[in-house]
Amino acid sequence: MPVQRLVPTQEAADLLALTREIAQQELAPRAAAAEADEQFPREVFRTLGRAGLLGLPYGEEFGGGGQPYEVYLQVLEEIASVWASVGVGVSVHGLSCFGLATRGTDEQKQRLLPDMLGGELLGAYCLSEPHAGSDPAAMRTTAVRDGDSYVLTGEKAWTTHGGQADFYKVMARTSDHRSRGISCFLVPADSAGLSADPAERKMGLTGSTTALMRFEGVRVDADRRLGEEGEGLPIALAGLDAGRLGIAAVAVGLAQGALDDALAYAKERETFGVPIIEHQGLAFVLADMSAAVETARAMTLHAARLKDAGLPYSRQASIAKLVATDNAMKVTTDAVQVLGGFGYTRDFPVERYMREAKVMQIFEGTNQIQRLVISRALAKGGAVTTSVAPAEFALA
Ligand SMILES: Cc1cc2nc3c(=O)[nH]c(=O)nc-3n(C[C@H](O)[C@H](O)[C@H](O)COP(=O)(O)OP(=O)(O)OC[C@H]3O[C@@H](n4cnc5c(N)ncnc54)[C@H](O)[C@@H]3O)c2cc1C
Repeated sequence: MPVQRLVPTQEAADLLALTREIAQQELAPRAAAAEADEQFPREVFRTLGRAGLLGLPYGEEFGGGGQPYEVYLQVLEEIASVWASVGVGVSVHGLSCFGLATRGTDEQKQRLLPDMLGGELLGAYCLSEPHAGSDPAAMRTTAVRDGDSYVLTGEKAWTTHGGQADFYKVMARTSDHRSRGISCFLVPADSAGLSADPAERKMGLTGSTTALMRFEGVRVDADRRLGEEGEGLPIALAGLDAGRLGIAAVAVGLAQGALDDALAYAKERETFGVPIIEHQGLAFVLADMSAAVETARAMTLHAARLKDAGLPYSRQASIAKLVATDNAMKVTTDAVQVLGGFGYTRDFPVERYMREAKVMQIFEGTNQIQRLVISRALAKGGAVTTSVAPAEFALA
């Protein structure tokens, strides 16, 4: 059943129609084979870039799409509903551009951003280290100033697009101060001393390459530092608020895909002489799945609309990430149940959806860390905000 969407403009409705067309024609036919073969689909990102879908939330003056975040997230959801690895990749690429777009100088933006947003260059984001995931301020990678450049030394773990990307947004230590001693750099992939370990062997999301990146005396021009020295952690955390909404949208898309497959199967498969959807016990499973998907979508779009209105949205982004990814885990697990024994085989995609959902509860801050963000905001006391809704909505 197509998702009914409220989007702010006809342009956004057209964009969603284009996304669905590309998703059905270019992405869906390749997804299962690429995931089974653990192949990173680099050319798919070029296709998305040329269609203008890789820089949607960024300004048009630097090659972005100039779209509200709520529109970008719905595009992301459509992509993820047919191929989660590509949805994650689009979100990570967006995150890798965030520091430059929000904290870069005009000169840096003019020089670097158009190729990044246009999809010619694919980005990656290096925050985590082997011993520093939930606690990024424990990072050890260093960036030592040497004349007009910095020299980076250390390891960055779990890098999505590691070894595939054209540039890496890297957080590295420029002083010993735990939180204010971290700075942010854009490192070209062909820098001497930069290398990727063999890709991690993961439970799922196997079409998305994840690798540890090694920085062995990597020299980076000082004009590739984003923001001031010591501003790296705030840049990273601000990016994560937006990035969490990306993962929430991917989780909604994944869950929607699982619901669609389960529903189609439940209408076809018969037991006791009727389609299984006519058994109330099974129909209620599908009803709960539908409620879980819609709830997650509503939370995600609410947070995005706060962001679009320039209001604080960090707590709502964490709530959206928590709800959307926990719901995706439940919905994809239930999809396996709806398909019975076939659900447990690799002949149907639902077991893959279940494996893909699991990682969404882990990256961009585990769901325990989301609860930490939410509870800390509650303890501080957050304002309840109201704002005026946009005047016009279009159906997409
Ligand atoms: C497929 C994949 C792709 C990834 N891509 C990227 C990427 O592109 N860039 C990047 O920088 N990182 C990436 N990551 C890393 C990811 O963000 C981290 O794995 C995640 O933040 C958790 O860190 P950790 O694995 O070190 O777990 P830990 O921090 O060691 O946590 C272990 C467990 O302890 C819990 N825990 C930790 N601290 C607390 C606390 N204070 N309260 C309660 N519970 C707590 C956690 O929730 C978790 O359950 C990726 C990870 C995966 C698996």
